[in-house]
Amino acid sequence: MKIAIDIDEVLVPFTDPFLKFNGISCEGHEEEKNIIEIIEKDPKKGYERLQKFHRSKAGKSIPPLKDSQQAIATLNSKHELIAITSRADNLKEETEGWVKEHFPNQITKLYFSNKEKTKAQICEELQINVLIEDQLRYAFEASKKKIQVILFDADKKYWWNQIEELPKNIHRVHSWKAVINKIEELNAKI
Ligand SMILES: [Mg+2]
Repeated sequence: MKIAIDIDEVLVPFTDPFLKFNGISCEGHEEEKNIIEIIEKDPKKGYERLQKFHRSKAGKSIPPLKDSQQAIATLNSKHELIAITSRADNLKEETEGWVKEHFPNQITKLYFSNKEKTKAQICEELQINVLIEDQLRYAFEASKKKIQVILFDADKKYWWNQIEELPKNIHRVHSWKAVINKIEELNAKI
């Protein structure tokens, strides 16, 4: 199968270190917790904050999420993997550098989505079978295009993607080990 993998919160922790970097408590500040809202409220300032974070030592030195390297190696032996991120184009160098460092020869193609070309559109163009994603918005956009979506919710701690009901083709998983099982299940159905 062709599998597209999101980067932030799927391959690398993002929300908590980003909020911490900006002095926002993860317990409080409900209105500030959603990164997408932070950016949309003031895009210029939002992207500046993101850039500052990803270019900082703290941002660059975050290790991959638990079990992700092993899981990617396993998936890579059977499937075609690509990464899709909604990070801004001006973070290309940092993002490519991080992926290359931690997933060498496994994820060699990296796509950047934006307002002109969404993640769902990129998935459609590349005929992606499965998208692994943590943001509900991108999950639903892909789901509407009949793409199978694995909604990543590590250790049930992703408060930003909790929702009562999900469409049939969005599958919530709580670990990379569960991703592998779900991929095998979906692969058997194709
Ligand atoms: Mg993400």
